Amino acid sequence: MFKNISKEKLNELKEQGIDWAFGNGFTMIKRPTEEEVKKDIVTITHVPFSLYPSAMNKKLFEEAVNLSQDYNILVHNVSKDFDFLQNTLKDVQDDFTQKLLEIHRQVNKEGIKQKKSLGVFRSDYMLHDSDKTQEPRIYQVELNTISSSLAVLSTKIFELHKHLIGRNDLNKEGYNLENHPDNKSSYEIVEGLATAHQLYNKADSVVMMIIQDGEKNIFDQKGLEWILWDKYKIKLIRRTLKEINERAVVNNSDFTLSIDGYEISVSYYRSGYTPNDYPSEVEWSGRLLVERSSSIKCPTIAHHLVGVKKIQQVLAKPGVLEKFITNKESFDRLKRSFTGLYSLSKEDIDQEVVKKAIANPNLYVMKPQREGGGNNIYNEDVAKELQSMTPDQLSSYILMDKIVSTSFKTHVVRDRQLLEIDALYELGIYSVFISDESDNSKDQVVVNKNAGILLRTKTSHSNEVGVAAGFGLLDSPILY
Ligand code: ADP
Ligand code: MG
Ligand code: MG
Repeated sequence: MFKNISKEKLNELKEQGIDWAFGNGFTMIKRPTEEEVKKDIVTITHVPFSLYPSAMNKKLFEEAVNLSQDYNILVHNVSKDFDFLQNTLKDVQDDFTQKLLEIHRQVNKEGIKQKKSLGVFRSDYMLHDSDKTQEPRIYQVELNTISSSLAVLSTKIFELHKHLIGRNDLNKEGYNLENHPDNKSSYEIVEGLATAHQLYNKADSVVMMIIQDGEKNIFDQKGLEWILWDKYKIKLIRRTLKEINERAVVNNSDFTLSIDGYEISVSYYRSGYTPNDYPSEVEWSGRLLVERSSSIKCPTIAHHLVGVKKIQQVLAKPGVLEKFITNKESFDRLKRSFTGLYSLSKEDIDQEVVKKAIANPNLYVMKPQREGGGNNIYNEDVAKELQSMTPDQLSSYILMDKIVSTSFKTHVVRDRQLLEIDALYELGIYSVFISDESDNSKDQVVVNKNAGILLRTKTSHSNEVGVAAGFGLLDSPILY
């Protein structure tokens, strides 16, 4: 695309884009050098972005959007099956997953103190068009049930692209804004937080964002805080798990959670999804405190566990999805979005697939029970690890068919530099789900909706697309 655009014009777009980014908070904190740490210097940079939207098939885009409600129901139904979660994950040889399972057991034994829950999920998809025997399709990469990030920055890249297209008459170059979807992901997610807060229904209570120390993606988080205040007049405070352990209390009789004089309506996790967030027992005990309280959790420990990759693999096994989804259309849509997923657990390792993967490692990805990017094993390493890991080590991984799409050329801006790259993208679909299980005779679903989109693009030779992890950049789709 952009055949008619001169180098000069591209540079002009770049300058406009960078100014817009800094002026509108499309920014993040740069990882400091040692020297900067010593001098206490904080550097802010623009979020890496594509200069114009990337073309996407409208039917496949809509297919992904339309899966939001199906996945919400799936997550919720699985989360209610205590035994399924415990039994499926009991043999995953991974301390982190086992700790989460322990909390799940403990809070269920004591009795769940809050029957309402908030889910802010993001299901991620890649285009698979390398198989010439079938039409291009989308497959799910993974489902994030905790700390689904980038919604604020994603809303901004859509605004930036709309601005650049309009301002520079790019509609004449085939970039018709009618084919550029709106994306209100930041507002949708804040609406979810606000609705949950209102359901908690206590004057003077506040939302608590549970954060990492030294968060680099701060403006993405702050954006939610500001909308929550501006639009709903709800306050949001930020605390780490360590601070929660030190200063929060759960009331003995009504189980309300308070910290520093604030009662917490909603505990919204933007940390706690990786072992790095629990350097000691202190953080685990902070997590347990929150889980035992009557604050509305986003996510509950059960919703968190449903997002574990082992669960994704087991749901793809014949006969399992049926247990959780009875609606035929919904079942078919979900099933269609699964690519090949295989167990590497001691109990049911699929030796045939392992042989195939050793012979053709480029067709597979090995994935541990981790979040946040940069943890998977690719290419020759797949063959190497499959042959050298012990059965116990393998049990903490799953194996997945690699989703492969054809690359396209695009222009991107990273660290103020204009680059032309061969690119691939990954489409994320946010969804909000609120349930209330206090009365079993009533419908438990309070809110079940799509909550906007995220498009991340990466160079085709990079394995991953994580923006915070430094691999990817933000983009938006133009539909055809
Ligand atoms: P995380 O929870 O760490 O984000 P993901 O499952 O999203 O884990 O994997 C990280 C990245 O690895 C993805 O964004 C994608 O770029 C790549 N990836 C993961 N699974 C596949 C797959 N089956 N095929 C191709 N790439 C994949
Ligand atoms: Mg993830
Ligand atoms: Mg991911």
